Amino acid sequence: MSQIFKLYRLQQIDSQLDQARSRLSELVRLLENDSDLRQAQENFDRQEKVVRDLEKQLRLLEHNVEQQTSKIQECETELYSGRIKNPKRLKELEDEVKALKRHLQLLEERQLESMLTLEEETQVLHDFQHHLNSIKQNVYQRNSRYLGEKTELEKEIQRLENERALAVSSLASEFYARYLAIREAKKGIAVCRVQDRSCTACGTTLTGGLIQESRLPDRLTYCPSCGRILYGG
Ligand SMILES: [Zn+2]
Repeated sequence: MSQIFKLYRLQQIDSQLDQARSRLSELVRLLENDSDLRQAQENFDRQEKVVRDLEKQLRLLEHNVEQQTSKIQECETELYSGRIKNPKRLKELEDEVKALKRHLQLLEERQLESMLTLEEETQVLHDFQHHLNSIKQNVYQRNSRYLGEKTELEKEIQRLENERALAVSSLASEFYARYLAIREAKKGIAVCRVQDRSCTACGTTLTGGLIQESRLPDRLTYCPSCGRILYGG
């Protein structure tokens, strides 16, 4: 096997490895960072807090209504007990009961409003919960597909790495060093085929002389335009 063919083969392996590794990191990103799920979870958490706060507010109002009601009962008990003979004091007590009742009415109105709001917001919370559950289900299904693909890719990468090590072991070290330097400088592609009298990487038309040269087994021929190693096949 010629050195130039081995370089070409190495290039094929490296290109497959590049592709597999790039897909693998994309899969890891997709698995770790799902924006739909995060958004749905955030909406649910925020709404849950709204509902908990409203529940607290309602309990406080209920407590106030109870207190107000027992205050009124106390006053009325005294008012109708017959113990108070002073008309001025009776009038005062009557006024106080009226005032307490007015305030009770206000509290009860607030309580009703609060109950209605709580009901509405709880419904919204249920909707968010439902949405979150369905997104979770989708994400888990999709993730299990991603995980399957990830396992396959990891196996594929392992296989390619073994193949690569074998390919490199039979390469002349100066060719390999050259290959690495060009690959680094030229976006991962160091070796390219000659096809239709052109460089397949940059499309430049090649002279007959260069094409002849690119078919020689153990010397490197470079594309005059992009500087990559040409493989004439
Ligand atoms: Zn080129």
